[in-house]
Amino acid sequence: MVVSHEGFYRPSINEQTCIGCHRCLHTCPLLDEEARRRAQAPRERHLFRYGWITDPELRRESSGGGLFSALALAVLSRGGCVFGVVMGDDLRPYHTKAENAAELQAMRGSKYLPSRVGDIYRELRRELRSGRQVLFSGVPCQIGGLLAYLGYKRPPNLLLVDIVCHGVPSLHLWDCYLHEEQQKRHAPGAPRSVSFRDKSSGWNHYGYSIRKDWGAGDVQYTQQGQDAFMRAFLSNMFLSKACYNCRYQGLAGKLSDITLGDAWGIWEELPEEQCAPGVSLAVIHTEAGEALCRELSGPVLEPRSPEQSLRHNPSLARAAVRPAAASSMRRKLFSAKPCRLSLEKLLRRITPGRLRTRLRNLLRRWLNTCRQGSAGLP
Ligand SMILES: Cc1cc2nc3c(=O)[nH]c(=O)nc-3n(C[C@H](O)[C@H](O)[C@H](O)COP(=O)(O)OP(=O)(O)OC[C@H]3O[C@@H](n4cnc5c(N)ncnc54)[C@H](O)[C@@H]3O)c2cc1C
Repeated sequence: MVVSHEGFYRPSINEQTCIGCHRCLHTCPLLDEEARRRAQAPRERHLFRYGWITDPELRRESSGGGLFSALALAVLSRGGCVFGVVMGDDLRPYHTKAENAAELQAMRGSKYLPSRVGDIYRELRRELRSGRQVLFSGVPCQIGGLLAYLGYKRPPNLLLVDIVCHGVPSLHLWDCYLHEEQQKRHAPGAPRSVSFRDKSSGWNHYGYSIRKDWGAGDVQYTQQGQDAFMRAFLSNMFLSKACYNCRYQGLAGKLSDITLGDAWGIWEELPEEQCAPGVSLAVIHTEAGEALCRELSGPVLEPRSPEQSLRHNPSLARAAVRPAAASSMRRKLFSAKPCRLSLEKLLRRITPGRLRTRLRNLLRRWLNTCRQGSAGLP
């Protein structure tokens, strides 16, 4: 896999060494639509739950309520292993394996970037064949990729946990952001570490922050609404093209046993102080998922209404919508060298653009209503 000029991992075939066996074509989850659709056969029911891990430290380190850690610890305690995403020293996320609670720590927290899967499916298959219980976590299309690799067979020792996915933003956007932040900070290099979901400023009402550690005690916190990268990510302008037409969108598209997300909006139902440290949403799709949740010793999972969950988590129901101005914004970002482009300037253009689009849509709707009204007159 290579990084495309837009900053996403794409397959690339070396024609010099290719032996023409076509295995890559057979295991590509996008090419074999038929097999994928069969695997996506409608599930009988989806259980909506909310909850959090009881250990306050683990809850604080997690993006939401830490249900991922609760599930992973249950699997580790039975001698199983867990596959998930950690941030590399190069500030790019990648998939790896955790054998114990200490190795799980780096997997906690969302990394809002595409993760490098590398050879991890191969290692996972080895673990499955050895009979160990295996938990794999990732975005829904990575679950799809893994199942396609396994020939859509689901061995009983495999548990699949995906996350509610807004879409993944470009690595090129990330490089632009890091470059600009470094210049603004007059720092000699990139930050030592970044957390996309720091809870020092809270979790309720989307109050989390981006935390950058520049070294020598210089730690910077920016509220997510003020952070250029988060604003660009949430504008939907710079997601992978595949995300706008996600093959795994909606509950019907999920291939996992459990989908985890943030229980946004739960503050309307629970006392503020109870949700302040973060609450997870879990949508359980299969018997295997239900069995694992029943075994959890710490967290109590309470039912949450599907309507409330879907209202606050639109990404659970549908793929990200590509804004009208995305093409020109993408051209500007993707054709620029990181050092030439000002992300702040680009973002200033996005905001009035969105306002203009909203006003235009309002005007159109109003004109349509007027037309329909006059057409109905006797
Ligand atoms: C790109 C992306 C978009 C998301 N969009 C939404 C959304 O719109 N709405 C919502 O409610 N939740 C979204 N989430 C999920 C949410 O942020 C939490 O990860 C999830 O709620 C689990 O939180 P937790 O507290 O249970 O555990 P955490 O410890 O926070 O869970 C971390 C889990 O996320 C996985 N993970 C982290 N980064 C990546 C990555 N880059 N690629 C694949 N897997 C990763 C880890 O392997 C681990 O399983 C998104 C996550 C990512 C990575």
